[in-house]
Amino acid sequence: MIKENILKIKEGLPSGTQLVAVSKFHGVEAIMEAYGAGQRLFGENRPQELAEKVPQLPSDIKWHFIGHLQTNKLKMVLPYADMVQSIDSVHLLDAVNAWCVREGKVQEILLELHLGAELTKHGLTEEEIISIVETTDKYPGVRICGLMGMATNTEDEAVIRNDFSRIASLFDRIRKTYPWLASFKELSIGMSEDYQIALQYGATFVRIGTSIFGPREY
Ligand SMILES: *Cc1c(COP(=O)(O)O)cnc(C)c1O
Repeated sequence: MIKENILKIKEGLPSGTQLVAVSKFHGVEAIMEAYGAGQRLFGENRPQELAEKVPQLPSDIKWHFIGHLQTNKLKMVLPYADMVQSIDSVHLLDAVNAWCVREGKVQEILLELHLGAELTKHGLTEEEIISIVETTDKYPGVRICGLMGMATNTEDEAVIRNDFSRIASLFDRIRKTYPWLASFKELSIGMSEDYQIALQYGATFVRIGTSIFGPREY
């Protein structure tokens, strides 16, 4: 089923949108099934799980870290991550930058915009994001590739559209205002339940777990 799910989802994606297969809580076997379907980009949200999986899997897989990252866990993530999509505080950005400068890595990152009122406290404000993109010289250890956001977890499509519209307009505004930020071109929005909507707002990454791998056991 995993293979069919991937092929089906990919068929519906426009050419500028990449599928991040969110494999958190699923084992190496499930990931290999997706790999067999040609999938090479995977997302994980727990540092230890990422660090354990990477050495067991083919080296041409690209790993995106998509979860909340505590600064004491950087060494479980930064050696393995092709991109950290979930830079959700200035404190974390400073720590990732410092780690990378020290270790000689330039880490691709996305800035996570805080969307929706409830649940998660994580995420940067629009003001924080603007101030970061205005001072990219302060962060030689990272390459800022765009924005990530998680829409409010609701059945109400109007609320979801409002969230996506907010992040898409911030994304467009930054691209227009700072055209010299050549790497700033990714917009990571959309999960299993809402990625079809996210596509209408210009998603370049959709992060899909359940619709590929089935439900997770927590
Ligand atoms: C788990 C997760 C996803 C995937 O969610 P599904 O609903 O299973 O598709 C996407 N993004 C983030 C940040 C996640 O933690």
